[in-house]
Amino acid sequence: MPIYSTTFFIFTSTARQAKEIMIKEAEDILVHKEISPTAMRLLVLRFLLNQASAISLTELEKGLGPSDRVTIYRVLKKFEEKGLVHSIDDGSGAPKYALCAEDCVAGHHHDLHVHFFCNACRETSCLPKSKIPQVTLPEGFASEEVNLMVKGTCSKCIA
Ligand SMILES: [Zn+2]
Ligand SMILES: [Zn+2]
Ligand SMILES: [Zn+2]
Repeated sequence: MPIYSTTFFIFTSTARQAKEIMIKEAEDILVHKEISPTAMRLLVLRFLLNQASAISLTELEKGLGPSDRVTIYRVLKKFEEKGLVHSIDDGSGAPKYALCAEDCVAGHHHDLHVHFFCNACRETSCLPKSKIPQVTLPEGFASEEVNLMVKGTCSKCIA
């Protein structure tokens, strides 16, 4: 019996610590990006940290349970403005949101990577290692943003 209770104690204490670390981590990320950590912002960020692919506002709204769509939208816009998330137009009609690479700053996104849309599971993923190639524009043209969307089958679906 003592063995069991010790194991149980270690287990619960580790689980609690892990949860505390995660709460702390989300708070640190917001502070680092100069965003005041309100309860809603922490909720949205923690949800995004647990996503393997980019998500739409509707998916986020469903995932967070009863929350106000406008409030979530404002949080996302704030995150985008501060260089914490970027939005992706995958042609599905609704923009998707994903967390940025570490080096994005307010008003300037550095993560110009390729995005991948899987036709089978309809998930959109960031491909941070695949950089968008330099595009030469005709004289007199100024670029503001570049999107490169690759469509096909993801590794989960190809198997
Ligand atoms: Zn970014
Ligand atoms: Zn897939
Ligand atoms: Zn991305």
